[in-house]
Amino acid sequence: MGVFDIVVVGAGPAGLGFVRSLKGSGLTVAVVERLGEDVLADPPEDGRDIALTHASEEIMERLGMWAHIPEGACGVIKDARVVNGRSDYALHFASAGSGKGYLGRIVPNHLIRRAAYEEVKSLPDVTLMCGAAVEAVSKGRVVLESGRALKAALVVAADSRFSETRRKMGIGAEMEDFGRVVIVCEMAHERPHGGVATECFHYDQTLAVLPMQGEVSSVVVTLAADKAEAAMAMPEAAFAADIQARFGGKLGKMALISQRVAYPLVGVFANRFVAPRFALVGDAAVGMHPVTAHGFNLGLTGGAVLADAVKQAAAEGRDIGDIRVLTPYERAHRKVARPLYLGTNALVKLYTDTRIPARIARMAALRLGNVLPPVKTRIVRQLTQAWS
Ligand SMILES: Cc1cc2nc3c(=O)[nH]c(=O)nc-3n(C[C@H](O)[C@H](O)[C@H](O)COP(=O)(O)OP(=O)(O)OC[C@H]3O[C@@H](n4cnc5c(N)ncnc54)[C@H](O)[C@@H]3O)c2cc1C
Repeated sequence: MGVFDIVVVGAGPAGLGFVRSLKGSGLTVAVVERLGEDVLADPPEDGRDIALTHASEEIMERLGMWAHIPEGACGVIKDARVVNGRSDYALHFASAGSGKGYLGRIVPNHLIRRAAYEEVKSLPDVTLMCGAAVEAVSKGRVVLESGRALKAALVVAADSRFSETRRKMGIGAEMEDFGRVVIVCEMAHERPHGGVATECFHYDQTLAVLPMQGEVSSVVVTLAADKAEAAMAMPEAAFAADIQARFGGKLGKMALISQRVAYPLVGVFANRFVAPRFALVGDAAVGMHPVTAHGFNLGLTGGAVLADAVKQAAAEGRDIGDIRVLTPYERAHRKVARPLYLGTNALVKLYTDTRIPARIARMAALRLGNVLPPVKTRIVRQLTQAWS
């Protein structure tokens, strides 16, 4: 039997971010991950480019993760535009006036994963158990498929939105299957993007074009599931021409420069984030629709909140698995995540509804957004505000 202070299931970016946040606490941590350690050390590209808020960038810097991200691999979002259908009218979010030079950065997900692993791999109190999966979980106890049992004051599940650990602990989750698929890829283009991120809500699909370094953009297309298969099977040149046309040729000729990766879209919100000797972080707690780019940002900040609570309890000699230590995390994270989750789902529904009233409502929403400065100011502030 292995005995640890904390067992974390899942070495994704949220799980490893949480583990790295515990550095210096003296708490012993076991991380159980299904993938091999060679994959964590050099994760394959998965097509996701993650838009990060200023708070996330700050946390990653504090955790030493940012130092592992090559500067040349990041995009910088200076301004953002939201466009409705084929209309030229746009809701515009500008970094000017925010006191920051940009709204956020974009970093490929595999580089975030690699950076998190680099920071965690040699922490003296952390034991990585890779190529291992969980067979059973109960209060303060994890049994691996190999039969090895681990005992801990606290078990943390960070094993994705379809968390088996959450389910094994008897915690249900609200799930919203959008019946749609998102296809992500990178494309080179003739004209400069000027650091502008554009989200186009067309009637049969949404298209986000996010600025990476140079004349390259990250492209995110959301389609009905039955159309996604055909889009994935299209020859590269035809796919590129289709995206170019849907973007109205604004970036000139576009060419695919990465593989296309498809993800089914299912939003998940756990019924509870904590139980005695148990907590959920990252997508296991809240799995967002990617259209508003909140998922990892939420996972990182939530993990930091939980780590602070656990460290403080440990420093005061309290039981770190006590529900009274964990509940403030649940409360704080829910308060931030719930409105974002519900708001994102409502936005997705409004912008995928092709009926006339919805079309009118979404155009009105864009115009209102532009003429109601407090709405825009609040969104820009949320992107650019500092963590501490
Ligand atoms: C297309 C797309 C675009 C996105 N864009 C953005 C964005 O712009 N901004 C943003 O903030 N977020 C974005 N997100 C969300 C972001 O990618 C996720 O929130 C983030 O990756 C979640 O990290 P995680 O560590 O919680 O889970 P995951 O990345 O899913 O990692 C879970 C880990 O647990 C392991 N695991 C699973 N089950 C077990 C088990 N039983 N035992 C052991 N190990 C297990 C897995 O192997 C994996 O390593 C996007 C998501 C998608 C799909």
